[in-house]
Amino acid sequence: MEDSYRHKGLRRALVDRLRERGIRDERVLDAISTVPRHFFLDSVFDRVAYEDRAFPIGEGQTISQPYTVACQTELLKVEPFQKVLEIGTGSAYQACVLAQMKARVFTIERQRKLFDTNRNFPYIQQFPSLQLFFGDGFHGLPTFAPFDKVIITAAAPEIPPLLVEQLRPGGMMVIPVNESADVQRMMRLTKRADGSLQEERFETFSFVPMLEGRK
Ligand code: SAH
Repeated sequence: MEDSYRHKGLRRALVDRLRERGIRDERVLDAISTVPRHFFLDSVFDRVAYEDRAFPIGEGQTISQPYTVACQTELLKVEPFQKVLEIGTGSAYQACVLAQMKARVFTIERQRKLFDTNRNFPYIQQFPSLQLFFGDGFHGLPTFAPFDKVIITAAAPEIPPLLVEQLRPGGMMVIPVNESADVQRMMRLTKRADGSLQEERFETFSFVPMLEGRK
């Protein structure tokens, strides 16, 4: 795959749009201007890869809209070398944006086909700090806990208790929680020293569902 001047120009225009829509964190914008989003999409979407839209990636799943990725990443306040757990690898675009920001990324996907595709995805190999897991994200990764940050990129029916457990004190979780069948409220939960959660509420979004079990 090629990252041409045209692609780079389209990426710059996308970053300008994200700025207009209110994304302020320059580290997030830098990562989005670096990671070639068209690599994560089927080549039929090449011409539209830098539109601010979600696209299908197979298995009934989607690559999140760039604004959604930018917004969740900004809310997560990622610092270099932090351990970040992502639920819902999907195309691995969000995971690569986090890895580009020098996070140590642990990402879980419940669909075998998507997991296998990502395992054979050459672009990902440049990030030794990005690890892919096949499993049910509701369980998290107890052996790698605690995490500084947890990001959930599918619509959660509720706040998964096992993921709260795997967050270190002072750590944050960014999670879209169902308000109705197809609307989620973006929430940021900060774990206090006593284990309780401080909750902040942001805009609403529309994600594919977070489902139990693997397939
Ligand atoms: N972060 C992705 C967004 C993918 S869409 C990206 O950048 O492209 C959400 C993904 O979450 C889908 O691939 C879906 O299969 C996965 N998913 C849903 N429930 C899950 C669960 N319990 N554990 C792990 N992955 C899950």
